[in-house]
Amino acid sequence: MMHEDNLDHREEGNTGVFRPKKQLDCTLFEILSEIGGEICVKVAEELYNINKSEITDEELAEICDINKNVVRKILYILYENKLSDYRKEKEKKKNWWIYYWRDNFDNVRSFIKLKQEQVIQKLTLRMEYEDNNVFHRCENEECRYLAPFEEAMELDFRCPKCDSSLNHFENGNVKEFLREQIAFLRENIKHCI
Ligand SMILES: [Zn+2]
Repeated sequence: MMHEDNLDHREEGNTGVFRPKKQLDCTLFEILSEIGGEICVKVAEELYNINKSEITDEELAEICDINKNVVRKILYILYENKLSDYRKEKEKKKNWWIYYWRDNFDNVRSFIKLKQEQVIQKLTLRMEYEDNNVFHRCENEECRYLAPFEEAMELDFRCPKCDSSLNHFENGNVKEFLREQIAFLRENIKHCI
């Protein structure tokens, strides 16, 4: 999702040392766009690239060149989605709280990966089921009751819902669809996480 030409470089302090900006992976990028649009992606990207372990909302606003109230709002959106974390410290002289923020993207990536693996597992089980069964389907287009062969036989090849005939159903398309979905998710995990 992030493009090659986005690999701008940032000056680190006054040392003259440049380091490439770390890129958000594409799954995370999509989630960020969804929850807060472009501005959320921008703030998250800068938060991901801070050269220390945490940063105040004011400092981050300066780096992003975005109004600090907007940055604060985005940080809370990220927090609500478990994508950021903070600690607060009392500023004794002024008697207010200072918030130190950091990203929480690693946890989220593991979470996404786990979810995708669970989906792959379910699809694989479904695939095995489709592979190991011959199906019959109700000929009534509005019903389409689907039964594995054993069930269809017990039902005397009559639909238990509408009493129409249960005919042999070729599940090649279903298997093809499952195969594509599994391959897509495997690729996704490889490239995005
Ligand atoms: Zn039926």
